[in-house]
Amino acid sequence: MLTSDTITGKGYDSVLKLMHGLHHFEKEVHPINQDFFARLVKKQSPDAIFITCSDARIDPNLLTGTAPGELFIIRNAGNIVPAYQEHVGGEAASIEYAVSVLGVKDIIICGHSQCGAIRGLLNPDSLADMPSVSQWLKHAERTKRILSENYKDQDADCVHNIAVQENVLVQMENLRTLPCISRQLWKREIEIHGWVYEIESGRVYIYDPVDEEFLPITLGSNGYELVSGDGLPTTV
Ligand code: ZN
Repeated sequence: MLTSDTITGKGYDSVLKLMHGLHHFEKEVHPINQDFFARLVKKQSPDAIFITCSDARIDPNLLTGTAPGELFIIRNAGNIVPAYQEHVGGEAASIEYAVSVLGVKDIIICGHSQCGAIRGLLNPDSLADMPSVSQWLKHAERTKRILSENYKDQDADCVHNIAVQENVLVQMENLRTLPCISRQLWKREIEIHGWVYEIESGRVYIYDPVDEEFLPITLGSNGYELVSGDGLPTTV
């Protein structure tokens, strides 16, 4: 059995914390949820594909009030979906499986405030010692082009917020280039959603294709609705 005596030395404190978590899960959480996990053993049937950044501050299940099995989660630096012509990798493979085999009908691309990948995209000099990150962010190059063409005179914070939103829209476009997605879109059997999570407020802004802005939701008398006029700032 691993204890704090068997794991010692610099750098192991974090792993030890995880060991405590593993032990608690196996001994406390799993036993009182046996029926739930027995159902998960049989199959996965997620409600949506959730594509977001690897940033450790984002917890898709916490954010959406969902349990294991309810979201098919794909994560990488900058919540990027490379366009099909440019790169077929893990993202395309995972999406193809979820759509073709699991029959998922909704795909959410969720960016977030304070995104390090977006900062890197806007400040390429900071990536000089990270060739892999630099290469990866080429899949968001169009986001940068949109910014330089339309938002030249904004201050740094504003540019960052706009870049997060524009990047979600660019990745939504990239997603449409995947053959499994374009087929389903043509048949109107799949829906793509753009979200931005604001860590500071706990709010998630949802892209409204009619108003062409990211809007917060509220619970009205007719159910959930988007609040016009209270969107994330994108005005030039
Ligand atoms: Zn990020």
